[in-house]
Amino acid sequence: MSWLWPVLGALGASTAALVGSGLILTLGRRAERAAGWLFAYAVGTLLAAAVLGLLPEALEHAPPMKAMWLFLAGMLGFIFFERALRWRHHAHRHHGEGSVERTTAVALLWGDALHNFIDGLVLGVSFGVSSEVGTAAAVAIFAHEVPQEIGDFAILLEAGMPKRRAMLLNYLSGLTPVPGALLAFAGASSPAVFGVLLPLAAGGFVYIALAGLVPALQHRKGRGAGLLQLGLVLLGVATVWAVGQLSA
Ligand SMILES: [Zn+2]
Repeated sequence: MSWLWPVLGALGASTAALVGSGLILTLGRRAERAAGWLFAYAVGTLLAAAVLGLLPEALEHAPPMKAMWLFLAGMLGFIFFERALRWRHHAHRHHGEGSVERTTAVALLWGDALHNFIDGLVLGVSFGVSSEVGTAAAVAIFAHEVPQEIGDFAILLEAGMPKRRAMLLNYLSGLTPVPGALLAFAGASSPAVFGVLLPLAAGGFVYIALAGLVPALQHRKGRGAGLLQLGLVLLGVATVWAVGQLSA
């Protein structure tokens, strides 16, 4: 497969920054409310891409116990990596807690760039498997980045950054999946590296879904909201499954 595919997938995923900013500018607070629901859909896509797309492939490239150890290492690694960097502590934002400081905005952009780079690595590994798994990963990244970027952009504005500057910087920090995807795609050409990257990437997606997004879902109270979230999670799973069927 050509390196063009992971690059296109990464560029597609990076438009989430523009979509998120655009939604805030046109819909305001309603966009932030919608982001809460989009997170539920994203949880389904991320978990399905990891469990149905990456893990089965990982088990074909390495002995099962080695693959599962690496999967575990991926999840644990991301927990402590994020802890060390304290990035993205804002998947759910608390309103009315006063102004956001400028340093928070800068830290946010750098953290965002790093997170997106890792998204790109997972994307490159996924395209190393097949165009279907790659597309499923691109859907999963786009699905969680749109609501994430809605929140990020709102914070940048709240920090007093002018709209255009916020939009530009947010988009630039959203471009890091491109080098990430290229790097991982190049690594995937070596079977030994690929066998290690696959379960690590799966661990990354599971981590983003369960640690980054699920806590945001808990903020919606009530049985109706819970059922709607469940429906959206299943819709996310169905999307990834449907992408996988395109080749079959
Ligand atoms: Zn992401």
